[in-house]
Amino acid sequence: MSTLTDQATTARVTESRTAILTVDDDPAVSRAVARDLRRRYGERYRIVRAESPSAGLDALRQMKLRGDLVAVIMADYRMPELNGIEFLEQAMDIYPGARRALLTAYADTGAAIDAINVVDLDHYLLKPWDPPEEKLYPVVDALLDAWLESDHRPVPETKVIGHRWSARSSEVREFLARNQVPYRWYSSEDAEGQRLLAAAGADGPSLPVVITPDGDPLVEPTDAELAARVGLATTPSKDFYDLIVVGGGPAGLGAAVYGASEGLRTVLVEQLATGGQAGQSSRIENYLGFPDGVSGAQLTSRARRQAAKFGAEVLTTREVTGLQVRGSARRVKFADGSFIDAHTVILATGVSYRKVHAPGLDELTGRGVYYGSALTEASACAGQDVYIVGGANSAGQAALYLSRHAKSVTLLIRGPALEKSMSYYLITRIADTPNISVRTCTEIIGASGQDHLESLTLRDTAHGTAETVPAQWLYLFIGAEPLTDWLDGVVARDARGFVVAGPDLSPGGERPRGWPLDRLPYHLETSVPGVFVAGDARAESAKRVASAVGEGAMAVMLVHRYLEKL
Ligand SMILES: Cc1cc2nc3c(=O)[nH]c(=O)nc-3n(C[C@H](O)[C@H](O)[C@H](O)COP(=O)(O)OP(=O)(O)OC[C@H]3O[C@@H](n4cnc5c(N)ncnc54)[C@H](O)[C@@H]3O)c2cc1C
Repeated sequence: MSTLTDQATTARVTESRTAILTVDDDPAVSRAVARDLRRRYGERYRIVRAESPSAGLDALRQMKLRGDLVAVIMADYRMPELNGIEFLEQAMDIYPGARRALLTAYADTGAAIDAINVVDLDHYLLKPWDPPEEKLYPVVDALLDAWLESDHRPVPETKVIGHRWSARSSEVREFLARNQVPYRWYSSEDAEGQRLLAAAGADGPSLPVVITPDGDPLVEPTDAELAARVGLATTPSKDFYDLIVVGGGPAGLGAAVYGASEGLRTVLVEQLATGGQAGQSSRIENYLGFPDGVSGAQLTSRARRQAAKFGAEVLTTREVTGLQVRGSARRVKFADGSFIDAHTVILATGVSYRKVHAPGLDELTGRGVYYGSALTEASACAGQDVYIVGGANSAGQAALYLSRHAKSVTLLIRGPALEKSMSYYLITRIADTPNISVRTCTEIIGASGQDHLESLTLRDTAHGTAETVPAQWLYLFIGAEPLTDWLDGVVARDARGFVVAGPDLSPGGERPRGWPLDRLPYHLETSVPGVFVAGDARAESAKRVASAVGEGAMAVMLVHRYLEKL
C-alpha cells in the first residue's frame, strides 16, 4: 500500500504552500531523502513524500486543485509501477514549471542522461548522496534558484475554468465578482486550463468547472452550490428576527446596516448577489462623499462588510417567493418551502431589466448579449464593436466604461435625443469621446452569430429602413421593472407592479381598504402593517443610489416606531 507523508512541523511551514515532492518506492530511502530535505529546507518549503508514483501523482493533483505551488519534484528511477522518467513526464503535465531531478543508482546513469531529453530533466542525483551538504543540497539549491526565477505566483483563490462563449461560464464569473469572491479565470482552451481540468478529472464537455480554495472541483455548479462552497451564507441561523430585509441592493444594505447597528436582530435575504443594480455600475459619480466617483462593486462591498460588522446576517442565493401575515408575525417564504418569521419586513427588491424580444437575442444571451452590464467581460471587448441599448444614466456609464477597451461603442436609443433621459454630465462626456456614437430612433430587430454574437439588424424607426451591422457585444439597459408578482394579493402594488406605500395608499387621507389599525400607514409602510418598502421597488421612487440608501435608513426608523407600538 502506498503512503504519502506530508510533514508540516513549524508554523512557517504550515503557512508555506510551496512543496518539494520526492517519490521513492523504497520506504527507507524515501524517508532518508525526506529527512535530509527537511533538515535544510523544512523551514521554507513543505516536504511531501510519496512511496509510489501513483501516490505522488495524486498528491500533485490535490496540490494543483488547492492552488499550492510545487518547486521541485524528485523521483527515483527504478520503481515498479512507472519508472522515474515516466513519472516525471506525467508530473510535468500537472506542474510544468516545477524543476525535476531523478535519483539513480550508478548503473542507471545512461537512463538518466536519456531523461534529460525526454522530460527536460534538470539534474540527476546518484544514490547514495552522502554527505548531503556536498551531493544533495547544492543540486536542490540550484533547482530552487531556477524555480524562483521563473513565474511561480501562487493561485490560492477559487479557480474558474470555462469557455469564453459559454453563457454559464460568464454567469458564474459575474456571480463570484458581484459577491466579492476573488477568483482566477482559466480558458478551457489554454494549457493551464486543460491541466486543471485533467487534475480535477473533469475534462468532459460540461463547463464551467469551479475549483474551490480547498481544491474541490464543482462541475457546472448552481449559484446556491457555489455560494455554499465559497463561504457565502445561505441558511438563516434563527427562526425569528426583528427585521427581515428582502433584497441586497443599496436600499437593502442601507436597511441592514441601520437595523443591525441599532440593535435589531436583522437578516438580509438576497436572491443572487449583494449590490443589486448598483453593483453593476462601473462608476457612480453622484453619490455623496465620493467626488471622484466610486465603482458600484466597491461601494456595495463596503456596505456589505459594514452590515456584517454590525451583526446583520446576509444570506445570498435565497429567492423570496412569498409573504404571509401570521398574527403579529410576518412570514417570508423561500422557493424550497422553508421560511423565516419576523416582527417586521423591509421590501428592497429594486427593479430588473426587461427582456427584449427580437429573433436571435435569447439564444445569444450570455454569449455576447448581456442584460445590464457584465463588467467581467469588459476586457474581452478590446478592439471590438460594442452596442448598448438604452438612454438612461446606466447605459451612458456603460458606454464610457466600455469605450476604454472597445474599438467602437454605439449607443442605440428609441427616442430622438438623449437629453430627456440622461444626466447632462454624461451626455457631455459621451460627446467628447471619439469612439462613442449615438444612433437615435433605432431599435434592434434581430441578432445572429454561431457561437457568439456576430451581427445585429437595426431598424431606423424614423425612416422605416433596416441595416445589418457587424457587432460582437450587445448590452441592454432598458425597461427596468419590479419583480413583485410574489406579493400579489398580499401587498398593494400599482399597475406596473411597484409597491405603494405611505401617503400614496391614502391619497384622500382616509384609511386604505382592509387596513386594520387606527392610524394611517407610516411613510414607507405598505398596505400590510409592519411591512415597509425602500428603494426602486417603491412606486414613484427616485431610482438613485442615494435615495435607495436613504429610504433603507428611514424604513428602519419607521420599524422602530412600529415595534414601539406593537
Ligand atoms: C449600470 C447602472 C448604473 C447606475 N448608476 C447610477 C448612478 O451613477 N447613480 C445613481 O444614483 N444611481 C445609479 N443607478 C441606479 C441605482 O443603482 C439604483 O437606483 C439602486 O441600485 C436601487 O437600489 P435598490 O436597493 O432599491 O434596488 P436594486 O439595486 O435593484 O437591488 C435589489 C436587490 O433585490 C434582489 N431581489 C429582487 N427580488 C428578490 C427576491 N424575491 N428575493 C431576494 N432578493 C431579491 C435583487 O437581486 C437585487 O440585488 C444605476 C443603475 C445601473 C443598473
